[in-house]
Amino acid sequence: MVSVSEAASIILSHPFIPRKEKVSIMLSVGRVLAESINADRDFPPFDRVTMDGIALLSKKFRDGIRSFEIKGILAAGKPRIALADPSGCIEVMTGAVLPEGTDTVVRYEDIEITNGRASIKIEQISPGDNVHFQGTDAGKNKTLLTPGIRISPAEVALIASVGKSAVEVFAFPKTAIISTGDELVSIDQIPLPHQIRQSNAYALQAALLELRCEANLFSVTDQKESLEKDLSAIFPHHELIILSGGVSKGKFDYIPQVLESLGVKKLFHQVTQKPGKPFWFGSSDHQTVFALPGNPVSTYLCFYRFVKPWLTKSFGSDEPFPSAVLAHDFSFKPSLTYFLQVKIREENGRRMAYPDPGGGSGDFANLKEVDGFLELPAEKTDFKKGEVFSFVPFR
Ligand code: AMP
Ligand code: MG
Repeated sequence: MVSVSEAASIILSHPFIPRKEKVSIMLSVGRVLAESINADRDFPPFDRVTMDGIALLSKKFRDGIRSFEIKGILAAGKPRIALADPSGCIEVMTGAVLPEGTDTVVRYEDIEITNGRASIKIEQISPGDNVHFQGTDAGKNKTLLTPGIRISPAEVALIASVGKSAVEVFAFPKTAIISTGDELVSIDQIPLPHQIRQSNAYALQAALLELRCEANLFSVTDQKESLEKDLSAIFPHHELIILSGGVSKGKFDYIPQVLESLGVKKLFHQVTQKPGKPFWFGSSDHQTVFALPGNPVSTYLCFYRFVKPWLTKSFGSDEPFPSAVLAHDFSFKPSLTYFLQVKIREENGRRMAYPDPGGGSGDFANLKEVDGFLELPAEKTDFKKGEVFSFVPFR
């Protein structure tokens, strides 16, 4: 039996080594970047006009000139032109290259144009007004993005701008979700009175899909011989194996025994937590195995508290849990870490956690009422309103 923090540190010290794969940038959102993205040219690549108006040489304005003859016009997407006569100006559009011989842009709102001359209506003009100078955001070859970051639409824009339509991301492990239990039937079956439709595999699959990780689903029975046969057929094709059920003290809970007979080394069995105490974790040369207790709230908590951080860590990023403030006094006696189901409300800039413990680890209907679990440490019994604890969110 290990504590929650021991369990977490054992799990995180057994990450998998991800392969890399190339995906289209449109499919890269939410994935973890596996290559460096460097600027292929300066950002911006030329002195870019940022307002529609006229470009001129600011020194002429300082010399007292207020009316400038319009010598030309330059739209975005046209090659750079020059202002040959510094007492004139050139009409320029947002996105155009600042013409040679000019150093500032005055907005249309601040000028008046009559008979081909622009008169300046404002009192102050400085060099560089309304110009986004070449290389000010990033110089050519500068590293814009480093491996390990999670790609959002903002990163997609950067990757596209350096000319990449596909990008290297870390590949997920080949994943199997295996439900155990002779009482379980599939979604589309009508259960007999002593049976239930299985739901854990779908919760796990959906949770993984939110992270963009696909998984194959399997169901196995509680019979030892067929378990051995079925698992040994599934294992060689998968690297991450998440089981649900069959790890408790029941007469038919053969999973720990069978896993060890298949060469998976036990790294711990049982965690001083509620829910999810029977949790078993192990690994072999090719597989990492999370054998989660079958009670739906236990399965769910264990995924978010242990499996998800393991995936994130394996990709080289560290996403610590946020914290939340307990909104009401709460007591829990047994000397176990208690994962209290809570509803979150933002109040005066604080994340307040309202307890809604539900009816135990089988009551997964209660999960729809809450946003995550507040991690109440095993050493204490009485938890006071206003105290801050680690929060395991699932929304
Ligand atoms: P176990 O961990 O196998 O002892 O199962 C504990 C409880 O969780 C039992 O009431 C099971 O029927 C239930 N259970 C196990 N697996 C699933 C599943 N895949 N979906 C829903 N409930 C499950
Ligand atoms: Mg079972």
